[in-house]
Amino acid sequence: HGVGSDEVQRAQKAQSNSVTIFSRIIDRSIPADIIYEDEQCLAFRDVSPQGPVHFLVIPRKPIARISEVTVGNTQLLGHLLVTASHLAQKEGLTQGYRIVINDGKQGAQSVYHLHVHVIGGRQMGWPPG
Ligand code: 5GP
Repeated sequence: HGVGSDEVQRAQKAQSNSVTIFSRIIDRSIPADIIYEDEQCLAFRDVSPQGPVHFLVIPRKPIARISEVTVGNTQLLGHLLVTASHLAQKEGLTQGYRIVINDGKQGAQSVYHLHVHVIGGRQMGWPPG
């Protein structure tokens, strides 16, 4: 308790209050092509696909970005990746695919609700842009 825990509480409150377009997809106040959901996460097709298949896997919990995760998020992050892998298989991406998590300004993150991109159905290049 003390100053530290007040700060933690404020940070947690700020995070749970952060409303992004993805919060609105989770609560169904805007439409999305949702391909999977469970108690921890949601997957839906990207509105601006960068390949024949492009979907996003997001936690229901509004974590802003990968650089803000804690050890307490370990199980959830594993679940997002396992879900991404299973959905890639379900989407028929048998020849491979790309998983991307953008973080912050230099990572070109545009929506501050953590999301795992799964892009496939075409040959990828390397390095990425
Ligand atoms: P970022 O650049 O933050 O890694 O990726 C955000 C992604 O969310 C982009 O690929 C963008 O096309 C997608 N996106 C942004 N707004 C919406 C939306 O309202 N619906 C859907 N389905 N995708 C969105």
